[in-house]
Parts: sequence; structure tokens; C-alpha cells
Amino acid sequence: MVRIRIVLNYNVLANRRANDVGSENHFLKKKLIIIVVCLVLLAACHRNEEQNAEFFVFGTIVEVKLWGASQEQGDRAFTELQQMFQGMHRDWHAWEPGRLTEINQAFANGQTAKADADIVAMVRRSQEIEKLSGGRFNPAIGALIRLWGFHTSDYPVIGPPPDQASIDELLTHRPSSQDIHIDGLQLRSENPYVQLDFGGIAKGYAVDLAIGRMRELGITSAIVNAGGDLRAMGRHGDRPWKVAVRKPGGGVIGAVEVRDDEALFTSGNYERFRQDQRKRYPHILDPRSGWPVEDVASVTVIAGEGIVADAAATALVVAGLNGWPAVARALDLNQVLVVDEFGMVYLTPEMERRMQFSGDVERVIVDLSLKH
Ligand code: ADP
Ligand code: MG
Repeated sequence: MVRIRIVLNYNVLANRRANDVGSENHFLKKKLIIIVVCLVLLAACHRNEEQNAEFFVFGTIVEVKLWGASQEQGDRAFTELQQMFQGMHRDWHAWEPGRLTEINQAFANGQTAKADADIVAMVRRSQEIEKLSGGRFNPAIGALIRLWGFHTSDYPVIGPPPDQASIDELLTHRPSSQDIHIDGLQLRSENPYVQLDFGGIAKGYAVDLAIGRMRELGITSAIVNAGGDLRAMGRHGDRPWKVAVRKPGGGVIGAVEVRDDEALFTSGNYERFRQDQRKRYPHILDPRSGWPVEDVASVTVIAGEGIVADAAATALVVAGLNGWPAVARALDLNQVLVVDEFGMVYLTPEMERRMQFSGDVERVIVDLSLKH
């Protein structure tokens, strides 16, 4: 675009040299017209271009790409997203003092807490997903997550697991998102052991809100990608958005073309864990046993909404190798890929049709319409 401008200006100067100074006004007008044409061309060029921005939130880099948006739309979207992500970090953090820690404190004291519309929405969706997943996804187990030392950004956490008596003590109180009563923006828990931790759902809801806001700004093609957890809308020019599916232990297992308005999330047991001399204890906990789940290395889910894909991926890790098909059915999912601790892949036929595997990957197709 800059090149177009230089060439046109050069022509203006060349013309100017060839004519007398008396026609200065004529040239000024011509120059003005040419500049206007250039600006129109610039705007047109910008419409077809990709615009990118990166944000640091929830301990990861969130990359946002827009396609076909105007410069103004892009600038506005990136400024707003920066503010939105900062607000989410402040309000949803499970252990840095903020709105959520205040709510948890109020629950512990048996008091009513004031939330905001987004936290209320996350509580409502959590209640649904906790129920459908048979308690495998449960964002009320913040105290258990803290007990395991997972309220930290420094991984791996070093040291032995907590003692069984402390785990049992928390389990007997059965914290559940169903214990939370919602009245407008007021939240109250009848169980003082409920401590909200949105670690398994926040990224999902964040990408939903980001895509929703961009849509309101008139943007039709965008992708919001938080280290492989993402939601897309529209297309990447004349082709679909294409994304990598993360592999346990690093690297990618393959790629998927994301259709309009889809989210893809991977929950893994390989990046965040506690470690002692004996073994690793991953950060996704089974709320029923109080212990990490170990036979699944990662679960990737494609769903319409980020919040569903994120929570479901966590729930399916907890469901384990034997349990995931039934839980996927209960959550009405059909695009699921599971990697076990030995690297074997299990996936639904719908997911098999969409995956472009990198190299030879040993895999088993699991039809969810059959009983498991
Ligand atoms: P990842 O960090 O791989 O994206 P998840 O989306 O599964 O993983 O989120 C894991 C986080 O969710 C944990 O760090 C913790 O904060 C929280 N969590 C752990 N176990 C559960 C569970 N059973 N239900 C809901 N949230 C959980
Ligand atoms: Mg999750």
C-alpha cells in the first residue's frame, strides 16, 4: 500500500515539473484527488488483510486474528479485548485477591456476595455441566485444588501429595456448584466449603465473550486462540481457519479446519502437575475421589461454544478411558479425541473425518451411538 502511494506521488511531482508554476492550484487539486484515491485504496486493501494482536491472560498468550475487518474495527476490537481480558483476569482469578476471592470468602462466612453478570453466567453453566457430567466437572472444588498446591503459576509443584485425611475432610463436605443460590447478581452458598475455581472453564468463556464482542463490532471473521484452545468465526479469506491439535508432551497430533463458529479445546494432564520422587500428580482432579486422574493424557473437544468445549474437555479427562464415551453422550458431544497415557488415540467417527493427522497415528474409532 505504501508502494502505491509513493508511485502516485512521484507521478504528481513529475507532472508538476513538466508544467509551469501558474497551474499550482490545478496540481494541488489533482494531488488532493490522488491522495483521496490512495486513502480509499488503502482502506480497500486493509479490508482484505489479516490483523493480529497478542494478549497475555490466564497464564497464556491469547492470539487474536481478524480477517477482512477495517483498520478501525481492528483497532477498536483490540483495545476492547485488552480491557476485557484484564477485567477477566482480575475478576475470575481463583487465588489472586479480586472479585472471585471475595465471593469465596463470603461463601465461607455464610454471607451473600455480589457477583457480576459474567460470573453469574459461569455459575449457571457450571451447574448444568456439573449435573450432566455426573459431578466430574465441578468448579466448587477450589479448596481441594488449593490443598493439592495447584493455586500457583509455578509448575511443576514439588513435593508429596496431601495426606488422605485432609483430602477426606474436604470430600465429606461435598462442595458443589448446585449449593449456590443465584438471586440477580447476588450469590449465596448453603455450603461453606464451596470455593469457586473457574480454571476449567474460564478460557472457554473468555473466547466466547471475545468472539461475541467482535461480532457486535461488525467483524465477521476472527479466531481467538489461547495456546491451542480457541474459538473461530467466519473464514480465513477464501479458506476455513485451520488449527493445530495439541499433543500430550508437546508438539501437535494433527490439524483441523474449524468451521464457522466452533470452539476447540484440549485439556491435558501433561503440563501442570505436582511431582515427588515417585511420580507425577496432574492438576485435573476427580472431585469424587479427590485425586488426579491418570489414565488419560489429553482430551480434545469441538463444540459450538468455548465454555462447553472447555468444561467438557476437563470432565472427559476425569471420566477416564472407560468413562468418557458415556459422559460425552450425556453432554451431547460428538467430536471428541482422547489420548491415553501410552499415546494411543481414541476418537469419534465425526472427529476422525475432520482430523488431518501428522504422520502415522495409531487410533481406535469409538462410535458413541453404541453403548459403552
Ligand atoms: P488446561 O489447564 O489443560 O486447559 P483444564 O481446562 O482442564 O486444563 O483446566 C484445569 C483447571 O481446572 C485446574 O487447574 C483447576 O483449576 C480446575 N479443575 C481441576 N479439576 C477440575 C474438575 N474436576 N472440575 C472443574 N475444574 C477442575
Ligand atoms: Mg477445561
